[in-house]
Amino acid sequence: MSDDGADIIGAGNTALAHRWQGVMMDNFGTPRLPLVRGRGTRVWDAEGTEYLDFVGGIAVNSLGHAHPAVVRAVAEQIGSLGHVSNLFIAEPTVHLAERLLRIAGRAGRVYFSNSGAEANEAALKIGRLTGRTHMVATTGGFHGRTMGALALTGQPDKQRPFHPLPGDVSHVPYGDVAALRAAVTPKTALLILEPVQGENGVIVPPPGYLRAAREITAATGTLLVLDEIQTGIGRTGRWFAAQAEDVEADVVTLAKGLGGGLPIGATLAFGAAAELLTPGTHGSTFSGNPVVCAGALAVLDTIERAGILEHVTRAGGRLRAGLEALAHPLVREVRGSGLLLGVVLGAKAAARVQQAAQDHGLLVNAVAPDVIRLAPPLTVSDREVDIFLDGFGAALSEVSDEVLTAV
Ligand SMILES: *Cc1c(COP(=O)(O)O)cnc(C)c1O
Repeated sequence: MSDDGADIIGAGNTALAHRWQGVMMDNFGTPRLPLVRGRGTRVWDAEGTEYLDFVGGIAVNSLGHAHPAVVRAVAEQIGSLGHVSNLFIAEPTVHLAERLLRIAGRAGRVYFSNSGAEANEAALKIGRLTGRTHMVATTGGFHGRTMGALALTGQPDKQRPFHPLPGDVSHVPYGDVAALRAAVTPKTALLILEPVQGENGVIVPPPGYLRAAREITAATGTLLVLDEIQTGIGRTGRWFAAQAEDVEADVVTLAKGLGGGLPIGATLAFGAAAELLTPGTHGSTFSGNPVVCAGALAVLDTIERAGILEHVTRAGGRLRAGLEALAHPLVREVRGSGLLLGVVLGAKAAARVQQAAQDHGLLVNAVAPDVIRLAPPLTVSDREVDIFLDGFGAALSEVSDEVLTAV
């Protein structure tokens, strides 16, 4: 195929999958569907088929696709000042840091990066700059794929090919306060946790867990790092999920939903932890890029002005109640918070449910062999929730018929 051929051969679903296979590294496998356009909660594939997007770019598209406020902010910024490097100051960068600290409700400092893993890498460096080296993280926890973040990630299958990883990390069972108490000592630099384990299958810890983590780390002078990369920026109906337990961490990391589709990470630090990065200790060319910061500001503005936090609580409640009302024999449990929900199946049929849902025009994510993760835009409407519930119920029934026939 000539280079020009790619343009002519375009664009059907299968054609794009073939082109992907020809040139992309195989770390993602071949994704299941090419998407070419989106609007709100809806997306269209390369053949014009429409879907309701309950994956949301993996909890990224907080305002859905092509939200006019984000489009306008990004267009205006790239049209006036696209990038300055950290040798100069751009106003949107400072403004976004001010806004993030305001929604956190505390004085502190912010380091910007380009992804979740990088936000955690900065947290890891802050931890090391305490002078301590030992770190505690949780089994099943997910903190990213770069080598430092991977060392914190408690998933041996993802780590195994890359040993030796940066060291001195202990993993403890998630949700287990006694295990935290035993593992965190006065030699521990940091404890890192997700308020809800997202990639591990939307696992909610027992009530009081985050509060206990705060007490245990305060007693040993250990930094509490809350990885709110998936749960932050309204996903659970609060700006930060840990606000549900009134817990104030030393470091909070953000990414996914913050940029409304733009790549951005942020590491917020408070108290003494905010002063540990000093000139020369860390950096990135794109840190605080004004275009992504302008987009993120539009996201925060819109969430605030349109009352989206309250909407998430309502819409999340409607979705959850609707899923429970299906009372489907294949569904064992619905768990999660706000618009981050896990539908736990009684069989390892998540991949089949994902495909059946797609055949009904619904995009969902089989995050574990027996768990479907739902993370629609925070702006999802009641009507879209109801359409989703109809189609998802039908998809579940098709799969349970198959499972029964197979037995
Ligand atoms: C997605 C995620 C990360 C990693 O973010 P990337 O942008 O993929 O590097 C880290 N922590 C949590 C909790 C996440 O959900």
